[in-house]
Amino acid sequence: MSLTVINATIDGERMRMRVEDGTIAKIGPRIRPRDGDEVIDANGMAIVPGLVNGHTHAAMTLFRGHGDDLPLMRWLQEVIWPVEARLEDEDVYWGTRLACLEMIRTGTVRFWDMYWHPSATARAVEDAGIRATLAGPLFDLGDAAGDDGMPQMAERGLEEIGEPRELVAPALGPHAIYTVSEGGLRWIAEASAERDIPIHIHLSETEEEVVRCVADHGVRPAEYLDRLGVLGPRTVLAHGVWLDESELALIGERGATVVTNPVANLKLAVGRVFPYRATRRHGIPIGLGTNGAGSNNSLDLLQDVKILALLQKHETHDPSTLPAADAWRIVTGQAAPLLGGSERIEEGQPADFLLVRSDTPELGVGDFTAALIYAASGAVIDTTVVNGRVLMSGGVVEGADEVIAKARERCVRLGLD
Ligand SMILES: [Zn+2]
Repeated sequence: MSLTVINATIDGERMRMRVEDGTIAKIGPRIRPRDGDEVIDANGMAIVPGLVNGHTHAAMTLFRGHGDDLPLMRWLQEVIWPVEARLEDEDVYWGTRLACLEMIRTGTVRFWDMYWHPSATARAVEDAGIRATLAGPLFDLGDAAGDDGMPQMAERGLEEIGEPRELVAPALGPHAIYTVSEGGLRWIAEASAERDIPIHIHLSETEEEVVRCVADHGVRPAEYLDRLGVLGPRTVLAHGVWLDESELALIGERGATVVTNPVANLKLAVGRVFPYRATRRHGIPIGLGTNGAGSNNSLDLLQDVKILALLQKHETHDPSTLPAADAWRIVTGQAAPLLGGSERIEEGQPADFLLVRSDTPELGVGDFTAALIYAASGAVIDTTVVNGRVLMSGGVVEGADEVIAKARERCVRLGLD
């Protein structure tokens, strides 16, 4: 499968681009389409890298608009967990398809997911055509503890997701330090190192988590994870809102990635702003996540990156904090290599890219990157290409109506409508 994009701009210059077998084969002003190529006329559009969502629970689109405005623990206990106990594969499949549809429409080409029934998530991701690193949530403490121990639970999750392939990669998803035992976390650290599989865990989302960790283990959350071998270059820490300076120094030394979720943190009122400047000062790779649509409630990363940038400026009383160019590197995954974003639009790179209308009111004048961060929303995306396949063209995703109808049916079944 090959395609040629004509009449586009890249970094402000008129360019053509040819894609072959999922890879950017050639970029230049005079490339000609070959026989059989799909040709995209990108007049008035710029080619930019796709966006990377570093932390979400895709199928939670089914919960959108349920339990809004409740505190975190009441939202989980009263709204989410009782319904999650009744989830079937087809619920997760259509919830994830709905999430993928929204992500494709708003320019996300890859996401990091943690959710139940990961085999259904994997199937949905492959049918939708985008990329994802998937983890089944692992719990071995409290009500969620099953009869089998961590190894069996984790092996089953990895088996469900299967071997790494074109669009899907597996990860180990210990839910959090307060839902996984010490032994469970140690096992996960060893399994991750032996098999070279990333770890995706929630960390330091609330102050209560820090207070409990210090009371139970005598150290703060990042130090606790390090003691168990969990902090390393394959580890993605979602949230990190309450990390302190010494924890950030440790995370920087170990090479772990932190994914901030500013909108979900604001909505659930976690009480503190992610320490971006200190995280950056310690050289820590930083990604951006939406968290699940149950607690955001959107998966539109261009909306969230604006909030990320504004929140950091406000918090530091300094408008030069997190300038647009840095925000763009974060939302495209370039500030966190483990997350797997496309470095640049360059020959030899995976053909994961967007065509963005540069003739709209939002993007038509002024600095293009600044306009993408501060003025745009996902609505400016015209075309989304992943692995050389056109998933949206002219703002239209094929089969969108069916996905919305099926997701609605699943909501009715679950009593969420
Ligand atoms: Zn989460």
